Amino acid sequence: MTSPPQKLACITLDVEADLANSRGRIRLFDEPDLLERYVRILEKHDVRLTAFLVTSVLERYGADILELAKRIPTEFGVHSHRHDPRTACTRAEIRLAVQTFREFLGKDPAGFRAPIGAITAEGLHALMDYGFRFDSSLYPSIRFGKNGYWNPHMPIVPFRVTREGADLMECPITALPTVRVMFALSYVKLLGWRAYRALLALFPLPDMAVFLSHPHDLYRPKFDDGVRGLEKRAILRNAQRGMDIFERVLIRLQEQGYRFVHMGEMCAAARQTALRQVRLARGRGAVQPFPSPPI
Ligand SMILES: [Zn+2]
Repeated sequence: MTSPPQKLACITLDVEADLANSRGRIRLFDEPDLLERYVRILEKHDVRLTAFLVTSVLERYGADILELAKRIPTEFGVHSHRHDPRTACTRAEIRLAVQTFREFLGKDPAGFRAPIGAITAEGLHALMDYGFRFDSSLYPSIRFGKNGYWNPHMPIVPFRVTREGADLMECPITALPTVRVMFALSYVKLLGWRAYRALLALFPLPDMAVFLSHPHDLYRPKFDDGVRGLEKRAILRNAQRGMDIFERVLIRLQEQGYRFVHMGEMCAAARQTALRQVRLARGRGAVQPFPSPPI
């Protein structure tokens, strides 16, 4: 396998209502100081942002999202219409998200990310039918519980998903090799920057790295709905330092020679390399989209 010519990092933001906020608010856009601080960090480090939009938030926050894109080069993708994991990957929901995206931005989306990473075969078939070029749903790691997944056998770098006559790039959210700790702002905050930096040194990122973040990872979320106990403590760890830790991640990536690119550019670079291929499950309703694990 030939290696790509340089190290590329894709900083992604899933634009959705803040965690456990029953009123669907996003503080990043409600509070100008937060947005200003975020934009300045992105500007300072020359970040090209890839933002996956929950398209139902566009009615309330569309103007703010366009304002962000005026200042930061942003590639938009879709993160479902309603962010309901039970329906997000149905054909009807994907069609509605595409229509809403098209009305808002005047073009079709190229990229998709499923809520909680729960992409299905039905969803991938629909993405191919609607002309999407990439999906970035896969968490190649393990998590237990209600929103859990079991993907330790899956690649941590982009691969091709194929079916007769069509293909799609899958750009997994990166997990650190071997230990499979997710490269996500929530995990960096949970472990703390010093511990995470040590992990990065021991288990270096691949040359194409996809970083996951949400608006609520950047500040202390205001819970008003259903988060308690251990989960609440885990989410609140380092909650006040979200922006600071985010910037440390950017600086570390730059020190290691990564260039920030949109996911579309990363996919184009990946296509120049010898990629793994995974055949999409035949059944359009199949829950498990990757029936033949490539590792
Ligand atoms: Zn989400």
